Amino acid sequence: MLRFVNYSVVFQEVPDEVTLAINISGCPNKCKGCHSPYLMENTGDILNNEVLAGLLNRYKHAITCVCFMGGDSEPKAIEGLSFFIRESTDNQIKTAWYSGKQRLPENCSLENFDYIKLGSYIEELGGLDSPSTNQHFYKIKDGRMIDKTELFTKK
Ligand code: SF4
Repeated sequence: MLRFVNYSVVFQEVPDEVTLAINISGCPNKCKGCHSPYLMENTGDILNNEVLAGLLNRYKHAITCVCFMGGDSEPKAIEGLSFFIRESTDNQIKTAWYSGKQRLPENCSLENFDYIKLGSYIEELGGLDSPSTNQHFYKIKDGRMIDKTELFTKK
């Protein structure tokens, strides 16, 4: 069962979008030098369609995107929540997923997301805004992954 610790409206995690970023706990990735160790604990409130509907009701006029920060322990659940957001807002709100995995799980479909960040956090290489990063940020268009990582490293 997915749980989240907190959320906030952010402007840099997804370029050109105003994003409600939801920090999901129970991260299984155990990256050395983890920048958010509190997300490795299985704590926080349950995240499901009902909770998302409440958040959308509150923020839908202020945001253009919802981003799941984590959730690698239950990728199908993330995909389902992403589907719910797009369907319940008639595709007016986009969705993004910040995963720490190297690739999208085989049983997840690109079509259910607008943006995906892939790649584990490697301390020496840095995050998306580091020129040496191993991570990639993709825009999903027509079922294809378009690498937009340079939007982060150019800043
Ligand atoms: S994916 Fe992120 S939250 Fe999870 S262990 Fe790695 S750095 Fe920490």
